[in-house]
Amino acid sequence: GPEAIIEKKKKYIMPCLGHFYKEPRQFVKGSMQYLYDSEGRKYLDCFAGVSVMNCGHCNPEITKKVQEQVGTLQHVCNIYLTENFVNLAEKLAEVTPGKLQKTFFCSTGSEATEGALLLASIYTGNNEIIALRNGLHGRTKLGMSVTGIQMWRTDENPVGGIHFAPNPYCYRCPLGKKRETCDLACANMVEDVIQTSTAGHPGAFIAETIQGNAGIVVPPEGYFQRVKEILAQHNTLFIADEVQTGFGRTGRMFAIENFGVVPDIMAVAKALGNGAPISAFISTAEIADTYTRPGASTLGGNPVSTTAGLAVLDYIEKHDLCQNASERGEQLRAGLREIQKRHAIIGDIRGLGLMTGAEFVHADKSPAAAELDDVLETLKDRGFIIGKNGVARNVMAFQPPLVITAEDIDNVLNALEMVLTEKKL
Ligand code: PMP
Repeated sequence: GPEAIIEKKKKYIMPCLGHFYKEPRQFVKGSMQYLYDSEGRKYLDCFAGVSVMNCGHCNPEITKKVQEQVGTLQHVCNIYLTENFVNLAEKLAEVTPGKLQKTFFCSTGSEATEGALLLASIYTGNNEIIALRNGLHGRTKLGMSVTGIQMWRTDENPVGGIHFAPNPYCYRCPLGKKRETCDLACANMVEDVIQTSTAGHPGAFIAETIQGNAGIVVPPEGYFQRVKEILAQHNTLFIADEVQTGFGRTGRMFAIENFGVVPDIMAVAKALGNGAPISAFISTAEIADTYTRPGASTLGGNPVSTTAGLAVLDYIEKHDLCQNASERGEQLRAGLREIQKRHAIIGDIRGLGLMTGAEFVHADKSPAAAELDDVLETLKDRGFIIGKNGVARNVMAFQPPLVITAEDIDNVLNALEMVLTEKKL
């Protein structure tokens, strides 16, 4: 049971790895949008293993294909010829925006962002990077160095040459502006940072399309367009980190499609494998064709993970998960806005598709993190697993499998309202 696992974990797992909930449950089974614990209790999963299980847990159509591949050919390394990784790359070129065409496969989100930054420095010949405050890009040395969110920066000695611009967080504008009159000052600051902190032509600007761990921070309209104009003047490449936002999550295949710009390089991971470890970075042929020195990632693009990737893209299209993410997201935010009228603890509701956040605040707008913890613990006891993020850890994060139904959304909204009423919040 959970206690025995916690004891063993203390002894054998490095202490950086905490766990969610004061009284955690041991999950033993998953089925689409539902999870089951060791005592047979059922949960609606509203976090999807942090935006991974977009097609649902143990999705039968995907599992069947992956199991067949596991029983046929697992691995040879893609220095040898197999077919699936080339087919998946072709498919990625088809579903990604603009002229993004050539792919490098690896296994985790950290490797994908790291590789994207490497490619940008190879293409531009410049190592300097602009990143956003409170962004998160990975746990490798460079990935952590471009991570602007303090609580995930374990490293006291980050890599040099990285400069941070303010994140586009309108609810608590880091520049103290009002949206109506700001003229996208946060985007304009990218120009200021380039002028004041760099040699004038940084190799890359990296940003999550919607910042996940920072608290589901959705940039205002026009933000990425303005940033891209600035970058173009300095020959700086735009890397979109779609690790958390990709594969239908926001109602489009990739979140950046909601903003009408095309990145030069895109990093993807998480939901591409729906539980199988696979990630990739994708760029235009012009940029990719400068990456000529030989090398592969041993497990990158292996037959099992790429079978999962192909099955995922097939499932998303066949079952129109983008449409469901969009509709269920609207339903969820409308329901949250109703609850907000009766419960002032919900200060802000934001998101796109099924990447939706509700920020918990006190009357003076200060973060209500302890209250959120209490609500999440109680919702877990009642069968609802919901995530948490934000710099002050006060944002309730809904990122469920995209197969979630209208009835599931009603259930979680009703449960939330009941808990807030009982706790007089
Ligand atoms: N980028 C983003 C936006 C992420 O959310 C994460 C992980 N939460 C990463 C990169 C790193 O991915 P991984 O944990 O697979 O290395």
